Amino acid sequence: MLRTFLGPQASTFREEVRSWTVATAKQPPWTQLPLLPDDHPDMLTIRRAWDRHLWESGWAGLSWPEEHGGRGLGPIEEVIFQEECARALLPQPANTIGTHLAGPAVLAHGTPEQRATLIRPILTAQHFWCEGFSEPEAGSDLAAVRTRAEPTAHGWAIHGQKIWTSFATYADYCYLLARTGAGSRKAGLSIFLVDMHSPGIDIHPIRQLSGHAQFSQVFFDTSVPESSLLGEIGEGWALSSLVGSHRVGGAALGASARWGDICRLMDRLEGCCARFGTTTTAEQISAAAQDVEALKWQIRIVTELAMAGRALAAEQSTLKLIWSRLLQDCSSLGVDSECPEHSDFWREIFLDLRRVTIAGGTSQILRNVLATNLLGLPR
Ligand SMILES: Cc1cc2nc3c(=O)[nH]c(=O)nc-3n(C[C@H](O)[C@H](O)[C@H](O)COP(=O)(O)OP(=O)(O)OC[C@H]3O[C@@H](n4cnc5c(N)ncnc54)[C@H](O)[C@@H]3O)c2cc1C
Repeated sequence: MLRTFLGPQASTFREEVRSWTVATAKQPPWTQLPLLPDDHPDMLTIRRAWDRHLWESGWAGLSWPEEHGGRGLGPIEEVIFQEECARALLPQPANTIGTHLAGPAVLAHGTPEQRATLIRPILTAQHFWCEGFSEPEAGSDLAAVRTRAEPTAHGWAIHGQKIWTSFATYADYCYLLARTGAGSRKAGLSIFLVDMHSPGIDIHPIRQLSGHAQFSQVFFDTSVPESSLLGEIGEGWALSSLVGSHRVGGAALGASARWGDICRLMDRLEGCCARFGTTTTAEQISAAAQDVEALKWQIRIVTELAMAGRALAAEQSTLKLIWSRLLQDCSSLGVDSECPEHSDFWREIFLDLRRVTIAGGTSQILRNVLATNLLGLPR
């Protein structure tokens, strides 16, 4: 039977989640969250504590197999959980590369040994992951990756440079895209699960517009064991691509987490506007609230389509285009509200959110995917 967000099973689960989120939101430290951007170092400390709290309370890995510490539920329950956390203004998880990318990929394509050693530490918040895809000259054009992995007697020698690696300074593992063969650009790529504590990995944080250094340049001149290769040699493009099967659930889940960010900003915005905003901002907030509601339903539809096995590259692109625009719109409205009490917050968040239309695929690239895959326009 086709599962939906409106079925009795989903409603029962939502009630269970809501009673927990409402109770949790009344407990410190979750009651007194500071007013900071999500990627601020202090906020990241709170979000990492939230990851641990989710594991300790039995809410980590809702759709992951029970044998690896998950709850064996499905994507619908994952999204419902995010929706309810947003409703209760609870924090966003920190280790999303672990939970939305590396974990699902290892579960689907890893060896029994990789699953046994890498999955549970993601759920318990013991291992934090980063994503090593982008390089100078290989961002939007990801197939141009030049970092090389050469076979050795004991495993692989990795040499190269990554850039814009978020949270590299915190990471225990990197989901790394490297070139293993001369083949065609895409066929020559493979994925490695690299222990970031290995000797020969040099991390140089990059200072951002916000003044913080949330991402880094990472230089690899290191050796990793044979067991670091994920899947087959040459399978890296399929395992890294935004349209790869392991990302289908992850895209809706990632969008759902971002929807939560938007709800938290809207809550703040409504507070500022009620006291200090102009009529114009009040009307704009009301229009934005309708877009936020529409996004919630779009995420639900994409989740249901993914569960029905539909290929979803264009739908995923649409979700990211919408949530990134909404986040930026909210920050602009916050600045426009001219709230004297929270003007520093809105200024900081406005600058911080410039990143969201670049990270994880730029809006221009996503529009190209949409134009060719959904609208069938010629290139
Ligand atoms: C906050 C943040 C966090 C990030 N975290 C990570 C991370 O953890 N791991 C990781 O691997 N990467 C990360 N990135 C990198 C991100 O994936 C890249 O910045 C992004 O893919 C764009 O690549 P680029 O910066 O090389 O820009 P380029 O690809 O050089 O693009 C420059 C401009 O040209 C446009 N453009 C390029 N090609 C086309 C085209 N064919 N058609 C139309 N327009 C085009 C782009 O849209 C963009 O506006 C992060 C980036 C940011 C901002």
